[in-house]
Amino acid sequence: MGIFLLIVLGACQSNSQSSAEAETAQRPIIVQGPMPIEAEEFAQRLENVEEETSGTFVFYKGTLDGYPVIVTKTGKGMENTAAATAVAIERYNPIAIINQGTSGGHDSNLDVFDIVLGKRTVNIGSLKTANKGEGEGIDPTIWKPMDLMASEGSAGEDPEAENIRYYDGDPELLSSANAVKDTYTKGKVVEGTIGSADVWNNEVDRINWFHKKYGTSVEEMEGAAGAQIAAAYDVPFLGIRVLSNNKVNDGQYNPDTAAANQEYVYEVVKNYISSDAGE
Ligand code: SAH
Repeated sequence: MGIFLLIVLGACQSNSQSSAEAETAQRPIIVQGPMPIEAEEFAQRLENVEEETSGTFVFYKGTLDGYPVIVTKTGKGMENTAAATAVAIERYNPIAIINQGTSGGHDSNLDVFDIVLGKRTVNIGSLKTANKGEGEGIDPTIWKPMDLMASEGSAGEDPEAENIRYYDGDPELLSSANAVKDTYTKGKVVEGTIGSADVWNNEVDRINWFHKKYGTSVEEMEGAAGAQIAAAYDVPFLGIRVLSNNKVNDGQYNPDTAAANQEYVYEVVKNYISSDAGE
């Protein structure tokens, strides 16, 4: 089986004729994690693992209950995630992508170890500032959201681009995640909005501004980048984020949350495989 897959993938990279052959094999589920502590726990649970790399991205290709699952260590941030997602889609033709890891709370009802299922994911770093001349200062609370996917024209000039773009979590992945909620005993599992940017916000007023304007439950640095690329290729996507810290209710950073989230996501993937969606 492992050898067969290797031959198909090897051939697939060298000519397009063989990609039809790859499509007849089961399409893998991709599970992404940014940092080693957010990917390796899951990778160790796979069977028949083979490691492949592309640039700085590591793909742990294995099986779970006999079904192909590829854990990707993407590295931190939007750029790494976008590129690792595109490479994974082109190379492995996945049936679904789960982006998971740690996050910071934007909601005082959520505690460290609680998990947010990304019913929606949104880029909170894509912003248009006000028009101000020299000496008129800077004013982040009146910055407007900027939707870079609104049109192919200039987002600076286009009023249509002044909207928040949300990426919806895939309903079947969400339903698998909800189905195994009770297996998680370290905190709550809730549906919510995941906000992403290459920014770590520690200003509570700014966090509250995002919470109110965008409805964010948590922030992290990857989800919206994965969601955007998955949507471009029409691949089902879900973000699943554990709170490792929460500035709005003094929740202190706890790195053990990363492993707890992977244990839960493992149950989600098992459920997805056993449901029709995974077949
Ligand atoms: N806490 C470590 C590393 C975190 S770097 C340190 O300080 O060195 C940021 C990573 O943690 C990203 O992958 C991001 O998705 C996640 N993350 C966790 N909490 C976050 C928060 N409050 N804001 C932004 N990213 C956060």
